[in-house]
Amino acid sequence: MEKLTKPKYINPNCTECSTTLVLLDTLNNSESEYVFIDEWACPKCYDGSTIYMDWSQEYIDEINRRAEEATNHPENMIPWEDVRYSMYKKLGLTDEEIEQKIKETEEEVKNMTDEDWEEFDKSIKVIRNVKID
Ligand SMILES: [Zn+2]
Repeated sequence: MEKLTKPKYINPNCTECSTTLVLLDTLNNSESEYVFIDEWACPKCYDGSTIYMDWSQEYIDEINRRAEEATNHPENMIPWEDVRYSMYKKLGLTDEEIEQKIKETEEEVKNMTDEDWEEFDKSIKVIRNVKID
């Protein structure tokens, strides 16, 4: 696959230091064969949590629209278990592996304290890096 060198929708430079952003997976030396093409980070400022999402305005509008729809009509929503299942299916996991993964996550969530949740909320900071042109 062709390697992405620049985000598509957002300003390709860091808002703090103007360094050119790189794919987050490149910074993390991710061994995964999947690279998230919409997650970017500054090689100088990256602190393990600040990332830039390369989303178009249309996509953000769509997310906001769906969030509103979910708030107004919770009865129309697809259960999270179903979403998760089809996500894992798309990644090529077998039913057995999916069941295992879901069990593991449930176990993890059960053992999380209030402090853990607070950490979790703080753990990802997304910057909306608006393109200037
Ligand atoms: Zn920077």
